[in-house]
Amino acid sequence: MKDTAALDAAARAQLEALGDPSTLTPARRAAIEQQPMPSQDPAARIRNMNEVALGYTPAMARLEALRCLQCPTKPCTKGCPVSIDIPRFVKAVADGDCARAAAVIGEASLLPAVCGRVCPQERQCMKHCTVGKLKKDPMKAVAIGRLERFVADTTRESGGAAVAPPAIAPDTGRKVAVVGAGPASLAFACDMRRAGHSVTIFEALHKGGGVLSYGIPEFRLPKAIVQREIDALAEMGVDVRLDFIVGRSRPLAKLLSEDGYDVAFVGSGAGLPRFPGIPGENLVGVFSANEYLTRSNLMRAWDEGRADTPFWHARRVAVLGGGNVAMDAARTALRLGAEEVSLVYRRTEAEMPARAEEVEHAKEEGVRFLTLSAPVRIVGTAEGTVSALEVQRCELGEPGPDGRRSPVPVPGAVSSIQVDCVIAAIGNASNPLIPLTTPELKTDARGRIVVDENHETSMRNVFAGGDIVLGAATVILAMGEGRAAARAANARLSENK
Ligand code: FAD
Ligand code: SF4
Ligand code: SF4
Repeated sequence: MKDTAALDAAARAQLEALGDPSTLTPARRAAIEQQPMPSQDPAARIRNMNEVALGYTPAMARLEALRCLQCPTKPCTKGCPVSIDIPRFVKAVADGDCARAAAVIGEASLLPAVCGRVCPQERQCMKHCTVGKLKKDPMKAVAIGRLERFVADTTRESGGAAVAPPAIAPDTGRKVAVVGAGPASLAFACDMRRAGHSVTIFEALHKGGGVLSYGIPEFRLPKAIVQREIDALAEMGVDVRLDFIVGRSRPLAKLLSEDGYDVAFVGSGAGLPRFPGIPGENLVGVFSANEYLTRSNLMRAWDEGRADTPFWHARRVAVLGGGNVAMDAARTALRLGAEEVSLVYRRTEAEMPARAEEVEHAKEEGVRFLTLSAPVRIVGTAEGTVSALEVQRCELGEPGPDGRRSPVPVPGAVSSIQVDCVIAAIGNASNPLIPLTTPELKTDARGRIVVDENHETSMRNVFAGGDIVLGAATVILAMGEGRAAARAANARLSENK
């Protein structure tokens, strides 16, 4: 059951039956079942771009918050890269005080409506939650992200900012340059502005948000919500300069040596797509997930007739990969009118890096999972368009250096699936422009910028964080890096007073 009205009625009845919350013992709290997320019906949602998950009602949020045991050691907070004081905000939700909850979250995060939606919570805060441990399943822990989303949405819908703009220290006269407007940079910029510095973000694209705007689809993360959270930075006085490519419009080194910036932060992300390196990749109808999703999200290809870009009308689509990006591409293809979408993945579902919820949603929507299958060749028509994908059947071998069992081809087991579009979603590498145009910056063999324990690069006063340092990671890890780098950059600026 995922219907809002029915779930809300059930939550209200349960709240009434529980009586006075102050009398609830820990055992009774932990016995309350996790509140499911209301969501659009799969048959309806694959025909629209609207958000799939609909959010808790106040009754559902209160009931979910009552599950929290208020553990004095706050194990959940230790699993949150930006250290949100989880029990304190959850208690405020249980008390029905959303403004207080928003203020607590705002101490640590500028993007609660975003993180509440896309954070891999079951691998972060929820993984450490005592309730999840009692139930021997992190998926049954207190639904911290859903509560965070509830707080952010309720505050925004009631006319306030999702989080109250943080107080800003008196002007220090110091200038800070930030490269990129993805989550790492936004977190860094927020903390530097909070400390009273003048902060300018330089973003290559015509919109801020990084992957939040161009990668993650509207049906998972509405763009108006991303924009609202970015606007909060502008309201704090951060200058956001769009269509500015550092390394092309202006070299990074000159921002420091000639333009008067005291420190810089590089959060340029990992937006360089990888391809599997198989024959047929140059055929018409083969896309990187980045291109496919950017056309759909940033350039709104789905709004045909009014969009700035066309899209490839495909009936049968194969998506290569098993991560969040692959799920997003597959689910977008369905919404763009594909009749059959197959996900081609070399290992089994257990090894898929995508969030469990994304896998479940993709399945509900009818995406076909071809696991233990490796793409070996894309076949084309005489006109040079995609007509089929050849797939090698695999079995799992011994664990590799990363602990995951490697796929081993089964000799002679190659088959073909008829497709007219292939989308490669097998990972992204670091954006190379800044390292290429800044030879002083040290990078590793995979093109990631090398930083020390203070997030400082090989160039003094240049800090870096997020995917450009970690390789493709997550929104909340990128934000955590941005905050850690801001602490170090602030310390540097106070040393050099
Ligand atoms: P980015 O978000 O990549 O932002 C970098 C920004 O820098 C971009 O806006 C780029 O245009 C700009 N830039 C680059 N070079 C320059 C330059 N030279 N000058 C100026 N600007 C520049 N993570 C999750 O936690 N949950 C999810 O569900 C999830 N789903 C994802 C789905 C997709 C399709 C993708 C691609 C990623 C997903 N991720 C998810 C990963 C997550 O989005 C990233 O880890 C995160 O956005 C990294 O943040 P960042 O700030 O380091 O970089
Ligand atoms: Fe959990 Fe992510 Fe929210 Fe932190 S930001 S509390 S890890 S959902
Ligand atoms: Fe609440 Fe779970 Fe955190 Fe304990 S670990 S305070 S139960 S959210």
